[in-house]
This record gives sequence, structure tokens and C-alpha cells, in this order.
Amino acid sequence: MIKDKKYRGGLVVEPTEGIHFNVTVMDFASLYPSIIKVRNLSYETVRCVHEQCKQNKIPDTNHWVCTRYNGLTSMLIGSLRDLRVNYYKSLAKKANTQEQKEQYTVVSQALKVILNASYGVMGAEIFPLYFLPAAEATTAVGRYIITETIKKCQTSGVEVLYGDTDSLFVKNPTVEQIQKVIEDTKMEQGVDLEIDKEYRYVVLSGRKKNYLGVTKEGKVDVKGLTGKKSHTPPFIRSLFFEILEILSNVQTSQDFETAKKQISQKISACAIKVKERKIPIPELAFNVMISKAPSEYDKTVPQHIRAAKLLEQQREIKRGDIISYVKILNKPGVKPVEMARPDEIDSEKYMEFMEATLEQITSSMDLDFDSMVGKPKQTGLDQFFWN
Ligand SMILES: [Zn+2]
Repeated sequence: MIKDKKYRGGLVVEPTEGIHFNVTVMDFASLYPSIIKVRNLSYETVRCVHEQCKQNKIPDTNHWVCTRYNGLTSMLIGSLRDLRVNYYKSLAKKANTQEQKEQYTVVSQALKVILNASYGVMGAEIFPLYFLPAAEATTAVGRYIITETIKKCQTSGVEVLYGDTDSLFVKNPTVEQIQKVIEDTKMEQGVDLEIDKEYRYVVLSGRKKNYLGVTKEGKVDVKGLTGKKSHTPPFIRSLFFEILEILSNVQTSQDFETAKKQISQKISACAIKVKERKIPIPELAFNVMISKAPSEYDKTVPQHIRAAKLLEQQREIKRGDIISYVKILNKPGVKPVEMARPDEIDSEKYMEFMEATLEQITSSMDLDFDSMVGKPKQTGLDQFFWN
């Protein structure tokens, strides 16, 4: 059980740490809506009143599902799922004009949003058809299906590197192996497994939900990427994209070791510039748009508004204006770019922000941020006992 959650969620498989080449990611198309459909899950069908249905167990729970009647949400969600998968998705593929294609895609995407939301409400008290066992049954079947699919891969000789809820990372599979797993899963579980991504290589860290992958086309995917946010200061954004560029050029494990060194050097060089206050002020700017007039804030005043209030002493500020500010040492902690001096820049704050932005990448690559930026490595208590 997880804190603040009323029931167990999806299954996350322990990742196989390290760099892996030629990785295929497979995922189940609309997993939970599919389960709700094929397992007849609904408010009135899970733990129904009929004695004979109690044999129809949900794996890993003590719930059962009705065998006599079709459930309301099962039919509804099932129909919407079928409409999306069998109708709009294929219409989009077969469309003759770009406009038609886009139109069908929009409908399909809208259905996807509704479908994805339809499972969560079963476990939400505000929903009129709230029924915790129905939500529990959905994730339990999900865990069962992914576990069975992993076994299927292993018996077919395909190595599973990582898995999370509805996706599986497999190493170096043949087309035939993938095809067999997809067919068997459809036949045995009634759900559709698809190829989602093909990575040239994937770097898995020891932690769950933290990886980076480079597709065969050279696009870099980082799980939980924050570096693209538009308000990130330009110097961090540039550093971030330079790192992605290095990663996208890696072809072999030797390249990867070289890339690690290059990345580490780039981060160190940037950290030195920050510490020595050599980064030009516009490069340090956070650019945030004002959505309310500065006077409309009363209790907690966000940083860009604090900067805007300083600017107001010079010129008029209105809603929609972009405020460019930097973080400074003295109160109020921020200053508009126009007014700031290099010697008052809070380098420590920038280092923290840099670390937070690059953390997703460096941690999956097993690079230690503190040692790259010249901070002494934190000593754990165990060192005193074992060294
Ligand atoms: Zn029944």
C-alpha cells in the first residue's frame, strides 16, 4: 500500500541498471479501459449478489465479477474504447486529406482523454458510481496482465529490462518474438499490446520512473523532463540542450563513456561561470508572464510579482506583460533584469536550480552533481564503519 492511496496501483518492475542498446518499448493500448471492458467491471457487477458469480475471481484480490449481466460502466467505457480503436483510429490512418486526418485524430484524442479519466473516478468518492472494489479490480487485473506478459517474454527468450503499469522495455527482440508476444497477449488476456518506441539506447538508473532514452531517429526522451520549461533561464536551457545533443550522438557504449565525460565537463564549466558571476544577466533571467495585475495579489506574492512591483516604480505594469527577473542575494530575493547588478546575483540559488533541472539526466547516468560542481561528496555514516 502506498501512502495517501486507498488501493494498490500499477506494477512497477525493478529496472536493470545501466546502458542498454536496441530497446523496444511495448505498451498496452488504453489498458485500464480495455480491462474494464473485457472483465465486465462496473459498480454493480463487481461483488454482485449472485452466488454462482463468486467463482469468477479477480486475481490477487478477494473480489469476483458478475457472469449474468453486463455492467453499465463496462459497456459505456467499452463502447467508447471500441469506437476509438476500431473506428476513429483507423479512419485517421486511412484519411485522404490532411484535414480529415487531423479531424479524426482530434476525435480519437478526445475519446482517449475521456477513457483515461473513466477509470480513476471509480476510486473517487465524489463520483456517483464510486466503488472501491471496482477500482481495485481494475489495477489488480492490470498487474496480473503485465506480470503474465513478462513471463511470456521470458519464455520466448526476450529480456525485460523495465516495466511500469502499462509499458514494458525489452532488450534486442526480433520482429518474430515481438509478434508472438503481441498475438498471445491478445488471445490470452484480450488486450492489445503495441510497439510504442524503438530506442537506439536506453539508460536506466537504479530508481524507478527515472530513465533516458535516445530513439533510432536521435530524439532524446527523459522521463520527467523539466528543462524545456519556458521560464527556465537561457543559460540553463542552452546547457540542457547541449547535453541532449551529446546524448543523441551516442552510438556505442564507448561513445557513452565519452559523452559522460563531456557532459560532466560542461556542467563543471558552467558551474564555475555561475560561481564567478561571469554569466551575463539576460542569460540568468526567468521570464514569466503576469496573469494578474500586481495589486491583485495579497497573501503569497510570487517572485515575478515581487520583481514587477519594483519595476512599477519606473513604469506601468499590466496583465500579459512578461517580467524578466533574476535571483539576488538581498531582500526581496529578486530584481528585474533592468535593475540588477552582477555582484548581487545569488549564485547559490542558480546552482540549486541548475541541479534541479539537470538532475533527471545526471541521476540516470550515474553522474554525481556535487562532485561535478566541486562540492565535497557527502559522507555517509557507513564509511566510518566499513573503511
Ligand atoms: Zn452476478
